[in-house]
Amino acid sequence: MQQFVRSRLAPTPSGYLHLGNVLSFAITTVLARQSGARVMLRIDDLDQRRVREAYVADIFETLAYLDIPWDEGPLDYRAYETVYSQIHRVGLYRDALQQLRAQGVVFACDCSRAAVRHEHPAGVYTGRCRHRALPLDGPGYCWRIDTDKADLPASMRYFIVRKKDGMPAYQLTSLVDDLHFGVDLVVRGEDLWDSTMAQLFLADTLGHQRFRQASFVHHTLLEADAGEKLSKSAGATSVHYLRNKGYSKTAIYRMVGEAAGLPQPISSWADLSPLISVFILPIRP
Ligand SMILES: [Zn+2]
Repeated sequence: MQQFVRSRLAPTPSGYLHLGNVLSFAITTVLARQSGARVMLRIDDLDQRRVREAYVADIFETLAYLDIPWDEGPLDYRAYETVYSQIHRVGLYRDALQQLRAQGVVFACDCSRAAVRHEHPAGVYTGRCRHRALPLDGPGYCWRIDTDKADLPASMRYFIVRKKDGMPAYQLTSLVDDLHFGVDLVVRGEDLWDSTMAQLFLADTLGHQRFRQASFVHHTLLEADAGEKLSKSAGATSVHYLRNKGYSKTAIYRMVGEAAGLPQPISSWADLSPLISVFILPIRP
């Protein structure tokens, strides 16, 4: 297998980790081990309105409970808070935003969600504000990037790089972090295909063409009906809840394996190793 330097686990602490997160972490860990990559824990916490201390603590507790190792990044809440929180990298994100502004590739937009839906029933942004020349420093405006020359999925047309509250948006922070930490193996669920396309475009725009040499592995997700079944039988699918109900590590891995439709039971992330190809999706053209 091709060798890589660094991968990452990148949970968002806006809720307790659930079985889908466990599957994603297990796949990432297996692929990293198979390819010689170190694993970094990166907590995507910039959307502070949604972050709760309990959810951050839950990340450490759940990884420990499930014996999922990581090599870099915070080992506990204190290290997270003092060194690794994205709050400490806001300067890097703002530099990238300033660069986009200087390149003249962003425009301000004041459209509400309802206004975007009014223009396009599926909520695809049609570029309404592109030629309105709203001031970039105007209050409550988000910044969108001009994607006219890119071949992006509809959901990423003129995607937002700076939110209405002035904070950098997910596509930008995720890319800047991956560049900053030298991540060359990105493992994520298939629901993030569109994000990958947006982030590659953004990397090109910022002059980081080498980001295209990173590998992007998209994996299948737990099926929604499997999740529903589990919710009905177990009560919920957060690991926090299951732990409190007395489910062991082995039982939780078994639930993940069943929800993923595996033909044989698993009891650890390492058990996924021989099965890993089942989850990997081919690169979308
Ligand atoms: Zn607009």
